[in-house]
Amino acid sequence: MHLERLEVAPGVHEWALAEAVLKTLYDTLGCRRVDRLVLGLGELQAIDRDVFLFALKTLAEEMGGIGRVEVREVEARFRCRRCGYEWTLKGAGLGEEEREAIHFVPEAVHVYLSCPRCGSHDFEVVSGRGLAIIDVEGEGCRVQE
Ligand SMILES: [Zn+2]
Repeated sequence: MHLERLEVAPGVHEWALAEAVLKTLYDTLGCRRVDRLVLGLGELQAIDRDVFLFALKTLAEEMGGIGRVEVREVEARFRCRRCGYEWTLKGAGLGEEEREAIHFVPEAVHVYLSCPRCGSHDFEVVSGRGLAIIDVEGEGCRVQE
């Protein structure tokens, strides 16, 4: 019996995220129908886009439906707590393998990254985590300015 490729709960994370987005749209913002949605997906957010979009459309059918969905990638930015220097994942000079590792386990940034200026491992993630609603158009949506 081969278990090395066993996925215990494939896509569960994506479905939970999709549900959270819809809850925000329909419950918090009061949308009755969503025609257009723009999401900001953090570079460090480990997520399967296709599974997520499928989950979003499927779950939305039980609510008011969802129109066009656009997903924009939000670049990861880091700020050193020691010297204040700011840098991006692209500017971190990592190899393909390390970037891949970070993509699967975003917490690994603290293992692979250090400040390019002073070498400190004490830095904060300024952006590039999680999922955000950037813009929404539809019926009844109360979008806060
Ligand atoms: Zn520094």
